[in-house]
Amino acid sequence: MHRSYVTEDITIFWDSDKCRHARMCVSGSPKVFEFGRRPWIKPENGSSREIWETVKKCPSGALDIIYNHDVTIEFDEAGHCSAAFLDGKQIGECDYEDTGEAFNIYHTEVDSRHGGKGIAKRLVYRVIEEAERRGRSVIPTCSYAAKIYNS
Ligand code: SF4
Repeated sequence: MHRSYVTEDITIFWDSDKCRHARMCVSGSPKVFEFGRRPWIKPENGSSREIWETVKKCPSGALDIIYNHDVTIEFDEAGHCSAAFLDGKQIGECDYEDTGEAFNIYHTEVDSRHGGKGIAKRLVYRVIEEAERRGRSVIPTCSYAAKIYNS
């Protein structure tokens, strides 16, 4: 299962398949990470800096974190995509086809002027999350999506 947890500043990614339940996160930021709570990650309960330092200690790579750089991500079910916006202008997109059984992610693109900010990962994660919430499998035809989904 893939999930992202977003505040104004940061996005935390969690891949449950990688989690070894080593609990470094829980001991590092107990108000933010708490197994059994829903949601089990509440980034609003800690500072961005504290969470950053805790996430970087995750031994399995199940957790990752990036700064948002004022970019917001929106999911557009009717448009079959997730889209990234900065100052009201679209700067990235991840497109998928809904086959009824799976979301086939076939295209991910971010304006080259905004590379290196983790925007593509946020876009792909958002589509994967929405697929999983609907009980669909994920077909990462797009090579970047495959890298995120299979890594
Ligand atoms: S530190 Fe990483 S591996 Fe350990 S419980 Fe937290 S998410 Fe899972």
